[in-house]
Amino acid sequence: MTKLWPFGILPLVSEQNLLSKPCLATITSFCKRKGFVYPSSEIYGGLSGIYDYGPLGVELLNNIKRMWWKNMVREREDIYGLDGSILMHPKAWEASGHVAGFTDPLVDCKDCKSRVRPDKLPGWRLKKDNQSGKWQVLEIGETKCPICGGELTPEVRQFNVLMETSLGVIEGEKMKAYLKGESCQNIYLDYKNVIDSHSPSLPFGIGQIGKTFRNEITLGKFLFKTREFEQWDIEYFVNPSEADTAYKKWKEIRWNWFVNNVQLSEKNLQWRQHTEDERIFYATDAWDIDYKYPWGWDELEGLHHRGNYDLTQHGKFSNTDLGFYDQEKDEKITPFIIEASGGPNRCFLAIMLENYHEEEIKGRQRIYLSLPPYLAPVQAAILPLVRKDEKLVETARKIYDELKGRFVVQYDEQGTVGRRYRRQDEIGTPFCITIDSQTLENETVTVRERDSMEQERVKVGEIEGKLSPLLSLP
Ligand SMILES: [Zn+2]
Repeated sequence: MTKLWPFGILPLVSEQNLLSKPCLATITSFCKRKGFVYPSSEIYGGLSGIYDYGPLGVELLNNIKRMWWKNMVREREDIYGLDGSILMHPKAWEASGHVAGFTDPLVDCKDCKSRVRPDKLPGWRLKKDNQSGKWQVLEIGETKCPICGGELTPEVRQFNVLMETSLGVIEGEKMKAYLKGESCQNIYLDYKNVIDSHSPSLPFGIGQIGKTFRNEITLGKFLFKTREFEQWDIEYFVNPSEADTAYKKWKEIRWNWFVNNVQLSEKNLQWRQHTEDERIFYATDAWDIDYKYPWGWDELEGLHHRGNYDLTQHGKFSNTDLGFYDQEKDEKITPFIIEASGGPNRCFLAIMLENYHEEEIKGRQRIYLSLPPYLAPVQAAILPLVRKDEKLVETARKIYDELKGRFVVQYDEQGTVGRRYRRQDEIGTPFCITIDSQTLENETVTVRERDSMEQERVKVGEIEGKLSPLLSLP
């Protein structure tokens, strides 16, 4: 997508000024320092793999989710939205296979008691039996603890990553339940409700963004793998004869969304097909869209050709007919499911990595976040050139009041204007609107663009009209 600026095409930032791409530690500390992401419960020592989104992070995260919802649900006639509960009937997790097979292999350190995934250690070869969900050891590798060098237990345990809780108030009568281990499951359970209330014809889909919980053993890649996170899912129900075509189409839709709307560069994205070993036994085909993270290529989103396993299983376990009468083809079928499953948090991380830049200008370092303007947590900053000039402040305040209902704007009068520009660049504010003495004479302000640092004078009355197309979600 071409970035538009009221005065034509934006000059692209020269790649030469840019220093190297950020490492994960840089992004992690940047996110904390600027108020994007904090470690959860930090004053109590924190909880590993759990994070809070700060004042700027929540805005960015919400914008990402809003864009997904707009493009994938609202703008499509064939997709219905859903917001399912986190707690579901425990039988759903038996039917889905999670109770038996949602496991990670685990060995313990005899000395420091750390729990380690052997499949992440050198030399080990393990295989997950797709039917039973149990891990089998093909080859034993490194037996020293990666943390303390102590000895690891030889037997591999099966560790279920579902998080347990219980429902009810009477001890002994409480019902064991699980926090959602995979957000999409409500969709299969509400599939019949959506059909009954909305009478869709095939193909149709249900979209949802929901919280997911997993007791992960190995963490440590910031927002990439966490114990509490969000997933967005499209489950697309199709006649089996049209499943291949629909699969191809959804792969294209999701790839194009990441490139055009999230604006991730295609050189940082790749397709990767799941090997037969990692593919779940009922799936026909599975591909990931990988992102180039600092540690290498890894999953951003999964596109799955799931067959009719989910509906068949839930139909069987609940004794409910989840078949569908396809009027057009005059046949009763159990629809096949094409799934597009990813997450706002991973997308957030990719966006931070993609857009964080450090550059040197005349010997001084500048940090800026080249976020797409419509995703930026602050869309425009209103800056009176001189803080002590009452007239300027009054005019700046008036402009701020006029714009705050339309855009996310920030009023800033602290420090020199140069410093304020740097501060806004750092948090990704695409436009700085400066009110100076000329404003009082001819009702114009300067609008400065973040990436190019170019400035143009704009009439006060035209600010909204000029910025609006750049700041609206695509
Ligand atoms: Zn150890």
